[in-house]
Amino acid sequence: MHKITDAIRIQIPRTDEMEHSAPLFLTSSFCYDNAEEMRASFADETDNNIYSRFSNPNVKEFADKMCALEGAEAAYATSTGMSAVTGSFLALMKQGDHLLSCSAIFGSTHTVITKYLPKFGIEYSYVPATDMSVWEQAIRPNTKMIYLETPTNPGLDIIDLEFVGKLAKKHNLILNVDNCFATPVAQRPIEYGADLVTHSATKWLDGQGRVLGGVVAGRKDLINEIYLFSRSTGPALSPFNAWILSKSLETLDVRMERHASNALYIAQQLEGHQKTTSLRYPFLDSHPQNKIAVKQMANGGGIVCFELKGGLAAGRKFLDSLKMLSLTANLGDTRSIASHPASTTHAKLSEEDRRAVNITPGLIRISVGLEHKQDILDDISQALDQC
Ligand SMILES: *Cc1c(COP(=O)(O)O)cnc(C)c1O
Repeated sequence: MHKITDAIRIQIPRTDEMEHSAPLFLTSSFCYDNAEEMRASFADETDNNIYSRFSNPNVKEFADKMCALEGAEAAYATSTGMSAVTGSFLALMKQGDHLLSCSAIFGSTHTVITKYLPKFGIEYSYVPATDMSVWEQAIRPNTKMIYLETPTNPGLDIIDLEFVGKLAKKHNLILNVDNCFATPVAQRPIEYGADLVTHSATKWLDGQGRVLGGVVAGRKDLINEIYLFSRSTGPALSPFNAWILSKSLETLDVRMERHASNALYIAQQLEGHQKTTSLRYPFLDSHPQNKIAVKQMANGGGIVCFELKGGLAAGRKFLDSLKMLSLTANLGDTRSIASHPASTTHAKLSEEDRRAVNITPGLIRISVGLEHKQDILDDISQALDQC
């Protein structure tokens, strides 16, 4: 089957009602006919559900679809992207292990790595996202995992997955890739040697700004460890959210195609705009890692970022001048969203720390939605005129 078909057709077994669309299993636990069936279920001798912190049919359906989309052996869904990321760290690393990552990562992931992993004796170091010459030297005898995002948030750096996949294999490390920005429609890290792919399902996978969710897909032995850790520590995905997310995956392919074509149009039209100093989109020739992006991605994704000449003040002015685009913390919605990290998500960092993660004072990130591309461009253009 093609993956688009799997995302639409994978479905939990029909009930006696013969419903077409999957029903919602809002139940905390499951029943048994007799003592022997209950014993066997608890002894893990069956695939029976026990309790929705462990498993639930809706959660399984969503995870099974993600497993097919990423080309993985197994997948496990969690309450949020952060519980997927944290579970993949804590289930697979122990005191004395070392994690290799990049500073250009999602803010809460950065907090988990730098503030909480050291509390459990897990060391970390960061390498620059695009300077491949330093990655191998940064590997230590106790390095256990490489964790990265590509494209990075919000700078849209592209990391060469083929290179990192080979490096991880050579040193026998677990390669864990956050595929939130690209989605499996554009990029499948497992094909390049990733052992795990983590996602915030809150973003493009839902794509409609409704629910929180996360998922980890990859090697069966590793997913089982993450499952055992998560079912004991508790970040279970709600069946309702899983039901929403499973429906969302049925339209993921068509949505991402349109998000990406709208984003490419916006990027092409705004490139060289007199109020900006630089504009980044992975599928523009001008992107510094365009060749790698085109090699490993089927489209450039839905995020465009640019730098305003007027810096911090212009960033605030830009947000204030928008008439249609939403000012909100999320990304990956049908509705286009603008953000100015230096005055919002990253305002607490010093300017130097912001520079280290590629956040300049005038950086604007646009999550390009599904509105008509001309309406999106017109709103951005009139706001730029005000800056
Ligand atoms: C949002 C996000 C996360 C965290 O996901 P939540 O669902 O908000 O917990 C992780 N990684 C990336 C790249 C994200 O954008």
